[in-house]
Amino acid sequence: MNIDPLGNPINLSYSLRISKMTDEKSAAYPPPPPLQQQAPPPPYSEGYAGLPTEQPQPAGYVPPQPVQPPTQTVVVTTVSNPPTRVIYRDVPVMVQCPNCKNNVTSRVVFENGLLVWICVLAIAFLFQLWLGCCLIPLFIDALKDVRHTCPVCGIHLGLYQRI
Ligand SMILES: [Zn+2]
Repeated sequence: MNIDPLGNPINLSYSLRISKMTDEKSAAYPPPPPLQQQAPPPPYSEGYAGLPTEQPQPAGYVPPQPVQPPTQTVVVTTVSNPPTRVIYRDVPVMVQCPNCKNNVTSRVVFENGLLVWICVLAIAFLFQLWLGCCLIPLFIDALKDVRHTCPVCGIHLGLYQRI
């Protein structure tokens, strides 16, 4: 037989009745849980819907930014190329003639420049005019300056100097 803290015997029927009442109360509470179950889905659905929608947006915004700068630089290069000075070397180059306005391949003419005469003097000093070896540089195009002219109108376009 059970005794409560005050020393009075506990009526089992009463405790059973209380347990039934708690069962009835607990049975009465079940309706709220469905409400709680209904309520959570929207937040979850919104949370899941919000995260995926937010993540793709930054990923979508990032690609366009890198793509735009290259297009701008390409435009700048295409615009800046024509006005830039053409570099003349020892080979023909494609250039727009400033006189006749034709897009032509320059005609190259090799001329004796400073490097040729320096080589002539050097060989003359070393070999002392032996068999005219000092004249060899006059026949080597790799030592000569290169003059570029327009094949259409013949105007001087540029000069490539070795030194
Ligand atoms: Zn020309």
